[in-house]
Amino acid sequence: MKAVEWCISCGVRLVEEGSVVFPCPNCGEELIGRCKRCRDQGIPYVCKKCGFEGP
Ligand SMILES: [Zn+2]
Ligand SMILES: [Zn+2]
Repeated sequence: MKAVEWCISCGVRLVEEGSVVFPCPNCGEELIGRCKRCRDQGIPYVCKKCGFEGP
């Protein structure tokens, strides 16, 4: 798996503590990165591969 360096929602680099990278819960193929701020605010994301939406 390749590393994800940017938040999928806001595009910020994932250097902050509290950032997470996880595989898409639906297809499991796309890695999704999220920064702490977007997680805290529950900003939605969309999987580029399957179109799954969620926090
Ligand atoms: Zn973000
Ligand atoms: Zn997906």
